[in-house]
Amino acid sequence: MASPGRPTVRDEFHIAIICALPIEADAITLLFDHLWDDDDNPYGRTPGDTNTYTTGRIGLHNVVLFVLPNMGISGAAAATVGLRSSYRSLELALLVGICGGVPKIAGDDAFLGDVVVSKTIVQYDYGRQYPGNFAMKKTVEDSLGRANKDIRSLLASFETRRGMKLLQTKATEHLKRLQKAAATNNLQSGGRRRRKQPDYVYPGIAEDKLYPPEYTHVHRESCELCLGGSGDFCLLASKASCADTKCDEAKLVTREFPFEDGESYIPEIFIGNIGSGNAVMKSGQDRDRIAATHDLIAFEMEGAGAWDEVPCIVIKGICDYADSHKNKIWQDFAAATAASVAKAVLERYVVNDEALAQARGLKAPTSGKN
Ligand SMILES: [Zn+2]
Ligand SMILES: [Zn+2]
Repeated sequence: MASPGRPTVRDEFHIAIICALPIEADAITLLFDHLWDDDDNPYGRTPGDTNTYTTGRIGLHNVVLFVLPNMGISGAAAATVGLRSSYRSLELALLVGICGGVPKIAGDDAFLGDVVVSKTIVQYDYGRQYPGNFAMKKTVEDSLGRANKDIRSLLASFETRRGMKLLQTKATEHLKRLQKAAATNNLQSGGRRRRKQPDYVYPGIAEDKLYPPEYTHVHRESCELCLGGSGDFCLLASKASCADTKCDEAKLVTREFPFEDGESYIPEIFIGNIGSGNAVMKSGQDRDRIAATHDLIAFEMEGAGAWDEVPCIVIKGICDYADSHKNKIWQDFAAATAASVAKAVLERYVVNDEALAQARGLKAPTSGKN
């Protein structure tokens, strides 16, 4: 039996969620209120579209979710073309997942787990590379075009005090719900599952480590490459943890954490320009230089590709500081905070009367008559 409000055709989907990694999709899937494809895949796709979709509902919105088959800007662009061809009534796409953050945003500290929301996406590596410095072909505002009116008005509402407070409160509720759902799933699956679902618990203040931009992640002992002074890249070091390379914790930037460890953490939400590039940002010095040039708050790799095809908001949890000390400890938690903010954003997104009536299983109001 069809669930109440289950759409009959693809054109009833107005929202897409795009993820770059399966772990990002895992987190947001826990926040769907209904999944429409538990038993079969009723909506299909157009010939030529190779994306595999998950369909369901979040709040009043029918949502189509998929994971990009390839990372990076061109992979995102190609897959979004497929999405557009199958789902022709999309109004908004959210790119939800994890990213590298800029540690200081407009004078405030950003911590791991905090969430960035894109006002504009800047493809900072577009154009020509000049020796020594870098000139973009176009300015920030028109390198990818400004967000459409709908998106601008939605984001403006989050920039009011009340709007931001509401968003943060709702996101925190969703995060708690997500953690609970994951715990319940893990309890039910017992010890039989090959790989347990992450519990999305806050990893701890002691794990949130920020080194100064010039303190790079290299072997401090017994590595000729790292210690030889040639400046050559050491693949082994890039894959090793800070504990293994013996990065010195005495060098960590001291920051005041405005929250207690553990349960009391509430994700801070930053709205600003997000840098989208073809390569992973993993240098503290490049990060700070490029962020200062283009007024960026975070770095990711898909936004510029999706943006060209569909009106898009990037919502990403900060899982590292886009420097050479990257590790994976924060990925699941940052995916969960981003998913929670994405759901809160969708709750504030107003669909038109027709879509709203569809979602509620009613006829659209007709003008003039009642
Ligand atoms: Zn080395
Ligand atoms: Zn390190």
